[in-house]
Amino acid sequence: MLVVAAVIYYVYDPATMPFPRCPFLMLTGRQCPGCGSQRAIHALLHLDIAAAWRYNAMLVLSIPYVVLLVAAEWLNRRGRGCLYRVLNSEVLIWCYFALVVGWWILRNIINI
Ligand SMILES: [Zn+2]
Repeated sequence: MLVVAAVIYYVYDPATMPFPRCPFLMLTGRQCPGCGSQRAIHALLHLDIAAAWRYNAMLVLSIPYVVLLVAAEWLNRRGRGCLYRVLNSEVLIWCYFALVVGWWILRNIINI
């Protein structure tokens, strides 16, 4: 499924194709934290990090965290769950949530 989605986002540019639009943006005229993610993923799959950053900087900044989460899950399944417990701690989850909310507010204030 992930590979199919990656192929679709690699082949088709969401900026020029009729991909689903953000309902929050359509209803409010304001960007949600995920706005620009489809275009950012397309840019990342073409190794255009600068464009991905312009479309959704939070998505680009979250990539290392997601890689760590996947690695932690992989290690946890093999009996080494220390990283998994750290990354899934309540404090870290709340910190990431605060970052996303801060990003949401900031991008609508300074229009990024
Ligand atoms: Zn959105």
